Amino acid sequence: MDLTIDREASSDGTRLSGGCLCGAVRYGSPGPALFAVVCHCRDCQRASGSGGVPILGVPKPSFTCQGPVKQSRIAGGSGLPAVRNFCGDCGSLLFGTPESAPEMVTIYAGSLDDPGAFAPTDALFVGQRPPWARLTGPLCEHEALPAPVTGR
Ligand SMILES: [Zn+2]
Ligand SMILES: [Zn+2]
Repeated sequence: MDLTIDREASSDGTRLSGGCLCGAVRYGSPGPALFAVVCHCRDCQRASGSGGVPILGVPKPSFTCQGPVKQSRIAGGSGLPAVRNFCGDCGSLLFGTPESAPEMVTIYAGSLDDPGAFAPTDALFVGQRPPWARLTGPLCEHEALPAPVTGR
């Protein structure tokens, strides 16, 4: 398996790559995304300083990452730690590695080289969403986690 992360390869339509603000951390996935949602839970709001976090799920076995990643581990809605990975130098939130779904990585779409590759289908925890954070577009809305996101 080729573990190198190539910015040029991200334009083929399925490969996903990204990194942090300072450039110390780079990650990649062959894609395509398993799901694309926006999580509006209060934890995601506090962690990001925003009204929600845009999340792309990708398979963990083919996900690669290089750089000084740090983790925060806070009990999530499942009771298991929601692990958020961020750059140890600049602090950019990059991706989650939830213990409730150990087979996947949840990329935070704003860190992608091409954020336009993110096409959300669902909004989660909409009851906790502030009015100003509602996205336009036909998103399927959920009060909590729908079954496909919680994993098997
Ligand atoms: Zn950084
Ligand atoms: Zn959340």
